[in-house]
Formats: sequence, structure tokens, C-alpha cells
Amino acid sequence: MQEDVKPEKIRCDACPVMCYIADGKSGACDRYANHSGELVRLDPLTVIQQGEQDVVPFLSGASTDDWGGDIIKGDRQFVTAVGAGTTYPDYKPAPFIVSQQVEGVDMVTVVTEGIFSYCGVKVKIDTDRHIGHERDVVRVDGEPIGHVMTSEYGSKMLSLGGVEHLTGGSKKEGRVTCDALLRLCNREAVTMTIGDEGHETEIVVQAGQPPIINGDVERLMRVGCGSATIGMFPKQWIGFVDEVVVVDDHITGVLSEHETGKQLKVPPTGIRIKGRRSTPGRYFQVANPGTGWGGTDIDDPLVILGDFNPKIAWEGLRLFMVSTTGLQCAYYELDADLRPQNKQVPEQLAVSAALIAENCEPSVCSVLFMGGAGGSLRAGVTENPVRLTRSVKEALTHVTCGGAEAYVWPGGGITVMVDVMQMPSNSFGYVPTPALVAPIEFTLRVKDYATLGGHVGHMKAVSEIDAEGARRLPPNPKAGDPMARANYRWTEND
Ligand code: SF4
Repeated sequence: MQEDVKPEKIRCDACPVMCYIADGKSGACDRYANHSGELVRLDPLTVIQQGEQDVVPFLSGASTDDWGGDIIKGDRQFVTAVGAGTTYPDYKPAPFIVSQQVEGVDMVTVVTEGIFSYCGVKVKIDTDRHIGHERDVVRVDGEPIGHVMTSEYGSKMLSLGGVEHLTGGSKKEGRVTCDALLRLCNREAVTMTIGDEGHETEIVVQAGQPPIINGDVERLMRVGCGSATIGMFPKQWIGFVDEVVVVDDHITGVLSEHETGKQLKVPPTGIRIKGRRSTPGRYFQVANPGTGWGGTDIDDPLVILGDFNPKIAWEGLRLFMVSTTGLQCAYYELDADLRPQNKQVPEQLAVSAALIAENCEPSVCSVLFMGGAGGSLRAGVTENPVRLTRSVKEALTHVTCGGAEAYVWPGGGITVMVDVMQMPSNSFGYVPTPALVAPIEFTLRVKDYATLGGHVGHMKAVSEIDAEGARRLPPNPKAGDPMARANYRWTEND
């Protein structure tokens, strides 16, 4: 009798690279390996298990409190796409099509690791410090991977990756971009350089951690702009000081001129601010952006003041200047020539600065993965892909990434965005095309799945899924429940 002779190398068909993998070796992406002639997915399937159990960490060093420890009673399982594998080409049904009854309704979840050539991350960095101008290029290892985009309230924003950098530049640019995206999505630290030679900013970004800007760990996100700060804390100052200036790169506030000061009957002080006056008590462009007071480039706040109006100001006038995080403050009294003289900050004013700081939230980097799932990936879900898109738009199908609720952008396609902190750790992989591999699950009623032409014949009950060796995690309360009734627009009578 002839023994089965296993070929020396097997071909992985999980992505277009189609690696030939020798026995005992892994493929180019390290996701698949040849174990004695069997093609195996190396990372364990991740299952979210509702109910008390021992939580198995994914990698050494990974914390068992990934989810914050909240455990929901019950025994329902949600098979995520983390570690599920990929089918390629896309017409093949997704690796897992899992059915189960939820509150009397037959539900199905289509589970696959998507290969996202069109993907990137949006990064929100809570800081006032200048990290670069809008449209400045962001580089890693000298390669452009994205750019600075419009700032949001108290935060700087980056747009990184995308097909322009993954495939539209040099081979090295694509490889470096893919690696940076992978590390950011897997919550690792990435060092970036922003801006042109001679005035670059070095920034270390890591999801869930404060940014490190030119070597300084940022502590606080500002409480608001200078005008907002004047509006929030006037009662801390009135009676203790004659004038307050809240220094801010965007809108510097002046108490006596501001509507707040007017309503609280703060008399004029004759103060003059350099910069462009907007509405009363609100000034733009008092200095250049930088890493000093309130996101400006100044370390001495007096440089933003002109001479006091001698017809209004008086000797002994008390002036308090503070930044929007409360971390910098100074107190002055005008001398006989109406020039501010630095004095020790009185206790009440120091307390007011501390109150501003107390009201600031900790500075943190947020990394949101964004990818397009409206393309060929849909064929693994249904033979009629556009019906999946419609079903998502009609809220009959709920989209999650690693069990975390994904925001689906309006308009065409299935463009999803998800906070990587709500996903299981190490949810992402890559293939060297280059593209990111990200988990995606589509959950819907079985009857809706049949209507949209789903691969119903490939459904398996959750109890039939081979989850031996799976990583089991408790639900993340911030990630939402993929099976929750509120996710779906149908009614019991539909
Ligand atoms: S890169 Fe990875 S997924 Fe693609 S063929 Fe090679 S081993 Fe398989």
C-alpha cells in the first residue's frame, strides 16, 4: 500500500500573495504556517464569551483585564473574526458563518478577516501643543505615511495610511506605512516626525496613552479655549484680581472685555492685547503656535500685552495670566509707570489655576481604524454583494470589528471606523501586498441573510464551531453588544 506523501511545500491561498510554505515555516505575513503539510492559522480564534470564566491572555505580556473586567452573566458566545482567517478569492464563503438563537430570534454572524488595501487610521491627539501645520507631512523612517488634518477642539488630528501611501508611492513607502498602521492598530507606540527639515516635531503616538511631543509627555487636554475658560471660572477671580488673561493659541480671553466680565460688572482696565480682536474679550493670533503657554510659542506671557491705557489703568492694578490647562500661571501688579511687575501668585489665584487643571481631562492618543468593506469582501457574505450594502444601510445588518461596534459612514459603500481600544488586543495583521488585515463581522437575522442571497448552506451552529484553543474574552462594555436588539431596525412582526 502506498503511503500518503505530503508535498514539501504547500500553497497558502488566503491572500493574493499565494505563498509556498515549507513544513515548519510560516508565510510572508506570519499568519499562516505549514504544520506537517496542514495549512494552519497561527493566531487563535477569539471568542467573546458572556459568562464567568478564566480569561486567557493572547500573547505573553497581554493583560487579562483588556476589557476592564466587567462580566455579563449568561453563556452566549460571539465568534469574532480575530484569528478567523481569510478566504481568497472573495467568492468563497467567509471562514465562519455562525448561527445561534438570541432571545428567540435566529441570528447569523458572518466572520472574516478582511484584507484592506483601502484603509488607514485617524489619530486624535489631545494636546494644545503645536505638532505641525494643517497639511504637514507625517513621516516614519523618513517615508511619508500621512498628514496633519484640521484640528478639533483641544486635539490635533492626523490622517495616516490610505491607498495613496500603501500602494501609490514607492515600495518602501508602502511597506513602512503598512507597518506603522499595523503597530498603531495593535496599540503599539510609533515614533513619527511632522513638518519639514529644520522645524520638525517628533511625536510618539500610542493608542490609549498620552502623546510624547519632542520628548515631553503631554499631561492634560486643555479645558477649553481662552474665551471658554473665562466663561467657566469668573467667580474664582472676581474680588481677588482686577484683570485675567487666559492665553490660548486660538482664542485668548480677557475678563474685563469679555461678555462674562460685562455681566459680572468687571470695570475696564485699559489692557491692550497684541493680536487680532474678534468679538469683545476674544483675541486671535496673539502669538505663533508652539509648545509654550496655551499652545503658543511663548514662555513669557507679557509679550502678548501692549502698553496699558494710562487713562484707564491704575497703579497697583492686579493682573492674573493663566494658560488653558492651568499648568502655567503668573501674577502681576502695575507699578507707577503702569508696567506689570511679577509677584508671587496669591493663594486664591493658585487655587483657580489648580481648578482649571482639575477640569482638564488626561491627554490621550485615540487611534481609529478606517477601512472600506464595500468591495469584494462582500462576496464572502453573499452572492449578491450590493444587497449586503443595502442591508447595512437599512440597519438590518450590524457591522462589528472584533466584536466592537463599527461606525458606518453615510453614502456609498461600507466604510467603517472603529476605536482600536474597544477591540481585542492584537486584532490586526498584514499581508505584504501591502494591506492591513482587520477583523470584520456582519450580524443579521437568518431570514434576512437568506433574502440577501447569503451562503446559507455554509451556516454552522455556534455549538459546532471548533473553538479548541480559542482565546476567550469577556465582553468589553464599551464595545457594545453585537446581538443587542437595539442594533436592528426590524420589529418582531417583520
Ligand atoms: S502572505 Fe500570509 S495570507 Fe498571504 S499567502 Fe502568504 S501566508 Fe498566506
